[in-house]
Amino acid sequence: MKELSNIGVIKELLERHDFSFSKGLGQNFLINPSVCPRIAEMGGAAKGCGVIEIGTGIGVLTCELAKRADKVVAIEIDGRLMPVLDETLAEFDNIKIINEDVMKVDLAALIREEFQGLDVAVCANLPYYITSPIIMMLLESRLRIRSITVMVQKEAAQRLCAELGTREVGAVTVAVRYFSEPEVLFNVSRGSFMPAPNVDSCVIRFNIRESTPEGVADEAFFFKTVRAAFSQRRKTLINSTASGLNISKEIVRTAILDAGLTDNVRPEQLSMDGFIDFSNELYKLVL
Ligand code: SAM
Repeated sequence: MKELSNIGVIKELLERHDFSFSKGLGQNFLINPSVCPRIAEMGGAAKGCGVIEIGTGIGVLTCELAKRADKVVAIEIDGRLMPVLDETLAEFDNIKIINEDVMKVDLAALIREEFQGLDVAVCANLPYYITSPIIMMLLESRLRIRSITVMVQKEAAQRLCAELGTREVGAVTVAVRYFSEPEVLFNVSRGSFMPAPNVDSCVIRFNIRESTPEGVADEAFFFKTVRAAFSQRRKTLINSTASGLNISKEIVRTAILDAGLTDNVRPEQLSMDGFIDFSNELYKLVL
């Protein structure tokens, strides 16, 4: 089998298939041979497990997953890579490639149809332009998955894995903590990719919670409130929520005080219980 992280092998393969990298699709392919085996191991690829991969590139991670897991279903948007993958993954009979935008795939149906009786994990070196939407979609769909292990830009990793109550928190952090326990696994330098991006990367894992926090009056309203709370950077909770939800500051102030918070609090200072209490109080007032 060819060494798919070898620069010479990649160049020869891509030249022969007349392939050029698309910046718009976040195509930075891994050329560091130690990274994919680690992602596969730490992502839970093993006997009895099915893995969904997002963004195959030439299949460098796909084959490490297929060596370990019972089955891999890999979703790749770029049709130009299909003939390349036919060649690089030819020796595996446990890989299915879907040529589609991951945001358009019905992943719940895919899991039902492809992974019956298997534990399911998601592993990916994510395209950077769409990191948060993909992670939010995976979490909010409440899929039957154990974990999501992804490589993302270092800055995104800091936000995604931040502790609530710290400066790095954003709306996505609250959603991550609501559905999972995030973990930083290891850093990957920019030189590990072709072409090299301008920033370093980090592999993180979301261990999916068996149950989400209790006491949320209305989940859709909860997330709407959280998004509004972070809609304006560095503003107080009153100002950002009132403007984000287009309601009066007085109503927001009442909800904040009823939730036992102080009226100059900033959204990044709230705990999960703080967000739940605040959104529940607001829900009562705007219902
Ligand atoms: N896994 C390969 C690696 O590690 O070398 C490629 C990773 S590259 C950072 C991201 C891959 O995701 C690219 O192959 C790109 O074409 C693909 N991609 C981009 N947007 C996508 C989308 N919306 N759905 C599925 N795949 C996508």
